[in-house]
Amino acid sequence: MQEYNLYINGKWTKSSNNKRFYSIDPSTEEKWASFAQANEEDVDKAVDAAHLAFCGEWSKILPSQRGYYLRSIGDKLKENAELLGKIETLDTGKMYKETKFQANYIAEYYYYYAGLVDKIEGSTLPIDKPEMQVFTTREPIGVVAAIIPWNSQMLLTAIKLAPALAMGNTIVIKASEVAPAPIFELAKLIDQTNIPKGVVNILSGFGDECGKALTSHPKVERVAFTGGVPTARHIIKNSAENLAQVSLELGGKSPVAVFKDANIENAINGVTASIFGASGQSCIAGSRLYLEKDIYNEFLTKISEKAKNIIIGPPMNETTQMGPLCTLKQLENIQEKVRLTIEQGGNLIYGGEKPKEINQGFYYKPTIIACENHDLPTAENELFGPVLSVMKFSGEEEAIKLMNDNSYGLAAG
Ligand code: NAD
Repeated sequence: MQEYNLYINGKWTKSSNNKRFYSIDPSTEEKWASFAQANEEDVDKAVDAAHLAFCGEWSKILPSQRGYYLRSIGDKLKENAELLGKIETLDTGKMYKETKFQANYIAEYYYYYAGLVDKIEGSTLPIDKPEMQVFTTREPIGVVAAIIPWNSQMLLTAIKLAPALAMGNTIVIKASEVAPAPIFELAKLIDQTNIPKGVVNILSGFGDECGKALTSHPKVERVAFTGGVPTARHIIKNSAENLAQVSLELGGKSPVAVFKDANIENAINGVTASIFGASGQSCIAGSRLYLEKDIYNEFLTKISEKAKNIIIGPPMNETTQMGPLCTLKQLENIQEKVRLTIEQGGNLIYGGEKPKEINQGFYYKPTIIACENHDLPTAENELFGPVLSVMKFSGEEEAIKLMNDNSYGLAAG
């Protein structure tokens, strides 16, 4: 079994109480890697290391040198895209063709910020007082805590880590307890760049232990969070005591509307990719579909045909179009919400079950449910799975009203 440890102050270390937890390959349901389970003491060590680095060596390094480190991380991502893709696929069940592509592509984020380091400007503000000159200047803030969800984690790490380093901050990253391996593979690559010790620290652990300790730590000046809404509420509470700046990128229940004058084939392809890509485990998944009533029957028939033909299978296979869900907990939540929706009047058009021909893994069929209204459980809540709830509308005004009538706001089509 593969073993991963914490990356604190440039060293690999077990957790202070020696506890470990495991990651499960969603396509086989087998444990494949073990991780050190960071607790409050480990968080303290990581934040102290980041704080010391921020006050010391890192603060004296010139912007162009920070750019050099960022470019090196980008280069290493490109060189190791295949390995990173394989590890992410093993850990999350996401398709290899997607994870490999992402690892390669994400290098560009590091290159972008590498180019930005020496172009960070302030402004001169006009003021009606001749004896004064007013200007703004941007300065690093200190230790940044980055809390990462399990999906699209290479991207979500890049958009926190790269700008933090570009600006001269230091960082402690907490990987998700669900599938932390890719972030530790990234840590190995960062270590190879010889970036000063303590600038980047990476922890694995649980939200209510490691995540809570990190986001409430008095030496953390900024919290960058991506994840679900219930967790975000904890993050705000945790960081409030310390008055840390917080950014939250949360979930979605994104609507897609198709009007009768649309190119139907294009629309079907768009809707299919939007909800069944990554098995629906994307924050911007188009999980609420509104069809203009004139095309409702035709569209529903055609999209169900399309769903039936999606090839479900092992995520490493080139021919697979939909892999498993990441965890058993997610699978069970989806099964429950689909059951409740049907019980409350939802009409199951396709799917709604595990594929019978696959015996192992957290697989679930692409699922389409026709709903009288969008207050039914699958139509109202983020499921993070391949479930499309379909409703009708008449005219543009009603379409917009229905699309906006949900507590989430992230994407729309
Ligand atoms: P999650 O909210 O369960 O967990 C996210 C992270 O928060 C994990 O690292 C977890 O350990 C940590 N955490 C949990 N409790 C905590 C606490 N009390 N204090 C501090 N940290 C804590 O989310 P997930 O299941 O990993 O990811 C899926 C969610 O993320 C979905 O809602 C999805 O829409 C959202 N997401 C949003 C975006 C975006 O850009 N808006 C991108 C990807 C995912």
